[in-house]
Amino acid sequence: MLELKKNYSELAPTERVLLGAGPSGVDPRVLRAMSTPLLGHLDPEFIGIMNDTRDLLRYVFQTENLLTLPMSGTGSSGMDTVLSNLLEPGDKAIVAVCGVFGERMVDIAGRTGAEVKVINGEWGRIIETEQVEAAFNEMPDAKVFAFVHAETSTGILQPVEDIVRIAHEHGALVAMDCVTSLGGAPVLLDEWGIDAAYSGTQKCISCPPGLSPISMNAKAQEALHNRKTKVPSWYLDLTMIERYWGQERFYHHTAPISMVYALREALRIIAEEGLEARWARHELNAEAFAAGCEAMGLKPFAQEGYRLPSLVTLWIPEGVQDAAVRQHLLKEFNLEISGGLGPVKGQIWRVGLMGSNSTRKNIMFALTALCSALNAQGFKASASAALEAATAVYDAAGK
Ligand SMILES: *Cc1c(COP(=O)(O)O)cnc(C)c1O
Repeated sequence: MLELKKNYSELAPTERVLLGAGPSGVDPRVLRAMSTPLLGHLDPEFIGIMNDTRDLLRYVFQTENLLTLPMSGTGSSGMDTVLSNLLEPGDKAIVAVCGVFGERMVDIAGRTGAEVKVINGEWGRIIETEQVEAAFNEMPDAKVFAFVHAETSTGILQPVEDIVRIAHEHGALVAMDCVTSLGGAPVLLDEWGIDAAYSGTQKCISCPPGLSPISMNAKAQEALHNRKTKVPSWYLDLTMIERYWGQERFYHHTAPISMVYALREALRIIAEEGLEARWARHELNAEAFAAGCEAMGLKPFAQEGYRLPSLVTLWIPEGVQDAAVRQHLLKEFNLEISGGLGPVKGQIWRVGLMGSNSTRKNIMFALTALCSALNAQGFKASASAALEAATAVYDAAGK
């Protein structure tokens, strides 16, 4: 017998304010939905819940795409699903990279056996239209063009319309990562002509991590059905999963029941608020937070004019220890923010203002806490100046 090494107590996690790059805080309604009784995954009542979830997802994605469903897995499973269902050996793909998540797309696209052309953008800046044009001039027969709408590693929001137009002029399908924009910034799949998109539940949707909403239009579905080879991953094969979420209810894998409950409730909360009101709330709170940060002497990292409303990125001032500040925030305030990734590790902070976390109360709290942490590091920052600057943004907006 292998013995237990200790007595394991009942879980009692500390209540943190999650203003990192995700997961974001979850509304108690979502947690309550998760603790309701399980149904069988083919129970007619559960099928009704699946249908509601799919319809609510279409609203949030602003699409009428038939193939709209949550994949069982986190945001990266959606990335893997979209790329490995659309690409196969012999195909060509162009992937735009200006941060970690673009790099992850390159990795996944390469694993499908497709030939991948990388657009190397600058971290903290958007991908320029000319860069996309140049890539298509070199690879005019690319089957897929993939990009990240909201690059969580740098805090930029990529303009969509011109790059989608170029890709479509060359007959490519457009695949978009909207993990950190869906539910926090406008995402208009049909209006923008996005052929395939994926997101995650734990960013602006304010649901625990565990599902990845995806959507594909008829053109992308046709490409999927015209594959010469099977999708290499059985679990992520949409040709089967679309039949499970479609009319047939063909058994593929057991839907994670409680996660579907959670997502349905989180989407209901979004629908109650209304997408436009939610986008405006994210924008106003990010603006107020950024104004407060600048008033305390912090400099924004992301390119001006293209900053995310759901995640603010800041340069760490000279002489200030990244880890010490984040530890101070966690220990003294139960507040989580994120550090940088890859080439900007130790150089920037990423403050997520996502979903239910994007509130005036959290902005004021985070500014105060950040001032305290900076002061402890000998960096002179004035909390009253920060709060005044943030308040001025709310006043100007009449809020
Ligand atoms: C978080 C994130 C992902 C990955 O999601 P996981 O849930 O961590 O698997 C992918 N793309 C972007 C832009 C993200 O922010």
